Amino acid sequence: IPPPPDRSPVGRISDGNYSAYAGCRLFSQLPISKKTKDGLGKKYKVMSEIQRASLPHSLCGRDVLGAAKTGSGKTLAFVIPVIEKLYRERWGPEDGVGSVIISPTKELAGQIFEEVNIVGKYHSLSAGLLIGGRKDVDAEKECVNSLNILVCTPGRLLQHMDETLNFDCSQLQVLVLDEADRILDQGFRVALDAIISQLPKRRQTLLFSATQSKSVKDLARLSLKDPEYINVHAES
Ligand code: ADP
Ligand code: MG
Repeated sequence: IPPPPDRSPVGRISDGNYSAYAGCRLFSQLPISKKTKDGLGKKYKVMSEIQRASLPHSLCGRDVLGAAKTGSGKTLAFVIPVIEKLYRERWGPEDGVGSVIISPTKELAGQIFEEVNIVGKYHSLSAGLLIGGRKDVDAEKECVNSLNILVCTPGRLLQHMDETLNFDCSQLQVLVLDEADRILDQGFRVALDAIISQLPKRRQTLLFSATQSKSVKDLARLSLKDPEYINVHAES
């Protein structure tokens, strides 16, 4: 069977030469797929500071703990490496869940899901929004195993882990915790520990929040491997 036409090798930053991309200002200068660049399109051209500081690390597979104030563009700082990782791994429908993105609220999860759809517009990956309060949990259970990227709140993800037959995260490549400090503050810690205990340890983990609080560092100690700490104070 010939390889799919648009699965040509894309630029990859090998560990060690990420600094070659440290000075990049534009998304177009990053070693990311044309599909992702097309998704970013005209809307996103110049990287924000947190994106500039973190993407060279996250794109080469490192764990990242990023802090930058609200509105500084943290979403793209994790959505791009998630999509690039699965694209580079030639992830397809049969590969199941490749990435889990956890957000503390339904509203924020919805915003992340929108950005996943923008960046992933020209990719063939599938993504699902799994949030509490929606009635169609049974319908979700039918399709959740065929989704590649899950954007979810902790409770709903745990519900699927507990209740959904054959729910399988064993091939997970990238785990993202957005608003990581809020997830802890809001009493999600027990749920989060239960979730993390069911995920493979060999994975990339990206944590983003507005402040680099002590509790985030505690969480980092639980699940990050030699993480890159990135703290952006003033947005340019
Ligand atoms: P945060 O998660 O840090 O609060 P968001 O990821 O929600 O920030 O981004 C805030 C806003 O900035 C969004 O409307 C997003 O579309 C926009 N944005 C993010 N990155 C860029 C960029 N590089 N160029 C232009 N707009 C951007
Ligand atoms: Mg955010």
